[in-house]
Amino acid sequence: MTDTSHEEPTPQVSLDPDDWDAFRAQAQRMLDAAIDRMQASRQGRVWTELPAEIKDTLKAPLPREGWGTDDVIGRMEALLPYGAGNTNPRFFGWVHGSGTPSNILAEMAASSMNANVGGRDHGAIYVEKQVIRWCRELFAFPETASGIVVSGTSMATIIAIKVARDARLDFASRKAGVCGHGLVGYTSTEAHSCVARAFDLVGLGTDALRRIPANDRLEIDMDALKAAIAQDRAAGLTPFVVVGTAGTVNVGAIDPLDQLADLAKDENLWFHIDGAFGALGVLSERVRGRLTGIRRADSLAFDFHKWMHVNYDAGFALIRDEVLHRAAFTDRPDYLKAKDRGLAGGNPWPVEYGPELSRGFRALKVWAQLAEFGTDRLGQMITRNCDQAAYLGEQVASTPGLELLAPVALNICCFRHVVDGLPGPVLDAMNDEIVIQLQEQGIAAPSTTQLHGRTAIRVNITNHRTARKDLDILLREIVRIAASPEVAAVREAARPA
Ligand SMILES: *Cc1c(COP(=O)(O)O)cnc(C)c1O
Repeated sequence: MTDTSHEEPTPQVSLDPDDWDAFRAQAQRMLDAAIDRMQASRQGRVWTELPAEIKDTLKAPLPREGWGTDDVIGRMEALLPYGAGNTNPRFFGWVHGSGTPSNILAEMAASSMNANVGGRDHGAIYVEKQVIRWCRELFAFPETASGIVVSGTSMATIIAIKVARDARLDFASRKAGVCGHGLVGYTSTEAHSCVARAFDLVGLGTDALRRIPANDRLEIDMDALKAAIAQDRAAGLTPFVVVGTAGTVNVGAIDPLDQLADLAKDENLWFHIDGAFGALGVLSERVRGRLTGIRRADSLAFDFHKWMHVNYDAGFALIRDEVLHRAAFTDRPDYLKAKDRGLAGGNPWPVEYGPELSRGFRALKVWAQLAEFGTDRLGQMITRNCDQAAYLGEQVASTPGLELLAPVALNICCFRHVVDGLPGPVLDAMNDEIVIQLQEQGIAAPSTTQLHGRTAIRVNITNHRTARKDLDILLREIVRIAASPEVAAVREAARPA
């Protein structure tokens, strides 16, 4: 071979900066803006709708000629104040984590490596393996358990239900599908919609998920569950999975996990737990004792981005039996074959444990959060949130015009404003309006849900910035808004003619 070092026909133009020093200054400006944003999370409005001018700039045509670094940094900075508000201490809607400034650094580090963590032998793979080992330890799963970092509990649930499905059908379902096997599963009416979605996505269909009624603590009714299983067996169907919830989305109820584990054993069912936020209660002295049943699950889905405050997004699927987990996903065509040495080593690869091949380095921010703060401190934040929810429950109970709608089981308090003599639909409309007013006035951001057919103001506290005074402000403002002309107008409009 002769040495042929060709000149490029045109000067080389890559996507790197022309001037690295200028880029460094621009990056520092962006980093400052990001840290300012986090530092200000306790101040100002909780939520502000994105202004029309910015919405308009986000309808610009696809640029043929790029706008350049300064322009793009300016536009990103302008966007920073317009989040959902979940970094603010008075964000109480749905179940959102509040994030940490430190995780900005982990995201920077991960992005600079630009790691593809589908497989191969490189640093990121070892970080994820460490996260998997830590998760096993957290939930007292055996050495033979496997896991994978995913976007969230919805994806983790799909993975777990797929493993359960295939394990029941000896993995023939991977090729032949599930038609005609009559697989059915069980969960409570309080379970998150991601369970039904997983049934849909793995080809079982949502009808195959039986929704078992909940008792008055909103935990699954065990007698109704047993009866449903017996009825399905009598009809020639094949029960294969029961899904318990550790921390329901409506009220934070914890299903009787040990009883579910016993039942799953007796009935030969896969026992999956949705522990999206509640499972991390194992970090808290206050909650831990109610979660001992988790260690008996066949699989667990949970989020790091909720009660561990990892910046969005990061969740985890933990599967008791690595062999079954891998058998449900492994598929290594020639171009992905394992090698003993070199960059194609590092086996088994994450691609063998989930549906994604290319995947980012989410594991780094999870690792960094656990490593920087440790489980004690992260657990204290969880304990504090539960104490705060209990405090709010007491305050609601002693405030005239407010009514608690469910016992405070964990970190969620559901209540409503009531006025004697008004019909249910009118009260529902008024409570909806109170929540919208709180959000639109930038005061606080609870959400609403339905409990026993009534609209509830739902205050979920998965927020390490929340203090008791934030809850005092919330209640004071609810009482004020309940008496405001806006709510009076809703009351008049909704009153039956
Ligand atoms: C949030 C939540 C989910 C869904 O998790 P994602 O991370 O949003 O996919 C499932 N179950 C429960 C109980 C939840 O709170």
